[in-house]
Amino acid sequence: MAENLMEKVVSLCKRRGFIFQSSEIYGGLSNTWDYGPYGVELKNNVKRAWWKSVVYEHNDIFGMDASILMHPQVWEASGHVQSFFDLKSDCKSCKKRFKAADLKKENKCPECGGQLTQARPFNLMFKTHKGPIEDEENLIYLRPETAQGMFVNFLNILDSKHPKLPFGLAQIGKAFRNEITPGNFTFRTCEFEQMEIEYFVHPKEAAKLLAEWIESRFNWYINLGISKENLRKRPHTQDELAHYALACTDIEYNFPFGWSELEGIANRTDFDLKQHAQASGKDLRFFDDSTKVRFYPYIIEPSGGVDRSVLAFLVDAYFEEKVKDDLRIVLKLHKDLAPVKVAVLPLLRNRPEIVELAKKIAQELKKDFITVYDDTGSIGKLYRRQDEVGTLYCVTVDVQSLEDKQVTVRQRDTMQQERISIDKLKEYLKEKLNS
Ligand code: ATP
Repeated sequence: MAENLMEKVVSLCKRRGFIFQSSEIYGGLSNTWDYGPYGVELKNNVKRAWWKSVVYEHNDIFGMDASILMHPQVWEASGHVQSFFDLKSDCKSCKKRFKAADLKKENKCPECGGQLTQARPFNLMFKTHKGPIEDEENLIYLRPETAQGMFVNFLNILDSKHPKLPFGLAQIGKAFRNEITPGNFTFRTCEFEQMEIEYFVHPKEAAKLLAEWIESRFNWYINLGISKENLRKRPHTQDELAHYALACTDIEYNFPFGWSELEGIANRTDFDLKQHAQASGKDLRFFDDSTKVRFYPYIIEPSGGVDRSVLAFLVDAYFEEKVKDDLRIVLKLHKDLAPVKVAVLPLLRNRPEIVELAKKIAQELKKDFITVYDDTGSIGKLYRRQDEVGTLYCVTVDVQSLEDKQVTVRQRDTMQQERISIDKLKEYLKEKLNS
């Protein structure tokens, strides 16, 4: 299955409304994607699970939401204007542009076989202008990472929260990079969301806390259902470390197209605070009350991508099972991630009393769980549809339900069915879904 797993996931995403190509009716825009009704729920669930584990379950991490547009000097100080480059080659015949890292050794265009130009550096930042005049002075950038929004708010956090070290800031938000990619669906896109933590620590504690964050972030994916054999930690070698990093470990997922980065966890040292202190003229040192010493903290940065996680969760959850003579496609997403928790399905859609009771049950469940009501097919078809989007429980209302006030509840992974009394249904589901 591995070789066409990616195609199957892409096809399911379109068929069921998870992810669509952006501007598809105009032929699409490369490397941009839209999340449909189930996709947006899954993505929100991933972000919620991250926020809960990072912000709510820590005493020393504060949430933030910085703006996408920032003062252009930020990107000078951060080093992005000078060094945020990819090497790219152009085909002299078809004029297409390729990332040098994606090209084979021979100097040929992978599309038309034409001759390629020498690889040249291209800055990955999107540029635009602020205000009515489109000149150099009004040039600004769409942020290529959320991190800088947290570094430049360091003083505001010190002055408003008065934290002790270590403490962290956490943010989820859009980032933009002018990427040229060989496909791979939503893995590498021009517009994506990052989930980043900037954890400010005493330099002496940096190595220990880096190791702790690598463990904790690795376990987050495992606890949300990614299978252990598909996840690994890959420490960077000295020559691949970014200019600001003392050490970095990537968490990689075994995608159908190979092991690839989901998240990087780096020790950024005091590079960022020093750079911004120098460029802004503000004192960005931390004052330690107990020792009366002022110093620059180090920063440990776990930086992950929402879209890449969503893709990994989708791929890892995709199963095809033989049930009698049928093929069952099921997304075995973790219960906290599944876009729909409960579906209420009438067994006979031409019986008004059954339909009415099923709708009433669905309406009541909607107050507590993401619930859908569906009566647009035979029960077999309805189950198949719910399995494909990973719905955890299907509640079926049948003729018997009118008499004994019970419904059949079917669990997604085991397909086991239980008769549950309607007045105990909510309690039953709460116990299963909130455990
Ligand atoms: P890569 O080497 O794959 O380009 P990176 O090391 O440049 O990634 P970082 O700058 O460390 O990525 O960004 C942190 C995280 O943001 C990545 O681990 C990834 O999950 C996500 N990310 C980065 N670039 C993209 C992109 N173009 N599309 C989707 N997600 C991205």
